[in-house]
Amino acid sequence: MAIDNYRIASDPVSSDMSGTAKASMDWRRLAHNVETLAALTEAPLMAMVKADAYGHGMIPAARVSVEAGAARLGVATLREAWRLRRLPDLAETPVMAFLYAPDQPGLAETIEAGAELGVSSLANLAAVAAAAERTGTAARVHLKGDTGISRGGVAEHEWEAFAEAAAKHRAAGTIAIVGAWSHLACADELGHPANALQKAAFERFLAALAAAGIAPEVRHLANSAALIADPETHYDLVRPGIALYGYNPVPEIPVALEPVMELRSRVATVKRLPAGTGISYGHTHHLERDANVALVPLGYADGIPRAASGSAEVYLAGRRRRVLGRICMDQFVVDLGDDTVSPGEPVVLIGAGEHHPDADDWSAWAGTIPNEILTGIGGRVPRYWNRGVE
Ligand SMILES: *Cc1c(COP(=O)(O)O)cnc(C)c1O
Repeated sequence: MAIDNYRIASDPVSSDMSGTAKASMDWRRLAHNVETLAALTEAPLMAMVKADAYGHGMIPAARVSVEAGAARLGVATLREAWRLRRLPDLAETPVMAFLYAPDQPGLAETIEAGAELGVSSLANLAAVAAAAERTGTAARVHLKGDTGISRGGVAEHEWEAFAEAAAKHRAAGTIAIVGAWSHLACADELGHPANALQKAAFERFLAALAAAGIAPEVRHLANSAALIADPETHYDLVRPGIALYGYNPVPEIPVALEPVMELRSRVATVKRLPAGTGISYGHTHHLERDANVALVPLGYADGIPRAASGSAEVYLAGRRRRVLGRICMDQFVVDLGDDTVSPGEPVVLIGAGEHHPDADDWSAWAGTIPNEILTGIGGRVPRYWNRGVE
């Protein structure tokens, strides 16, 4: 069985980090982001809640997104889709999963549960049709063309065969074709030549389907960046992920998004050390002067990137303070200068306040993107939503 990280607040031992770290999600901010993104487009939204809603909690994020107006839900894996399909309150909301191999266990069960499937290869199409035939339920599918990301999706030289096979399975009653879709490689780079090329290729993909008599109702191409940057990509549905959680992948175009997650910890110990003392593994930092240092009990096992050692800051006792030396598996050291704090003092690692670091800051310090910071928050950190949506 999966381990459920979403314990209720009254659980006395709700996790290893209970009483120290917690990730708090504000449902109002997620609802605000859904509404803000919806206002940028005529197209309905598929809220991407894969990877535990980018670390926020898949089920609560799905519930709040749908309540705020998202028409559909998107996940990667069959298990994610199956879990969502089991929620009676979301029974009317279509869920699409797209990442599986032809022999993936659970394909038939996922179809039977009523999830829709993205189909990214001829082999997956055959497997989906066969699984649907076994269950006696037509699989609802979204046919995916690779228009240039060279990742998932059927390559252009196979579009004709893909369209013909899909038409054949549709005629046999094993599939119902709901959508046609693709994914953009460079949508966050305004004016990148790949964007125009992919839009043109998507039109060719739709034409290849049309030539086989397939006119899908739901054509979709846009991730968060394309939703924000390019209305020509919106078609009949947009698929925002990171923007739902409050991070704008196209900083050139301001959008009033709000970070949904706050990640806090509390100081475990405080001590004074003399100038010249080497700090943490490898002694990569030596104190320039006598200083008080605080120990924060979160580390890279909890998703605090080791690559941010030497540049990261946290918000502690009224201001930003430097992380000193290496970030370790379970802990790191913070420079207090001559300030003193008591053990238990709150530490904000990711916050929404003006002086708080956020996932954009951590991604700059660690050389990555906020998506990786948010999805990387570890299983020891309990998640809380400020409303009973778990
Ligand atoms: C993750 C994902 C998205 C959302 O991407 P963001 O850049 O986070 O908005 C959209 N579509 C597909 C197919 C995805 O896998």
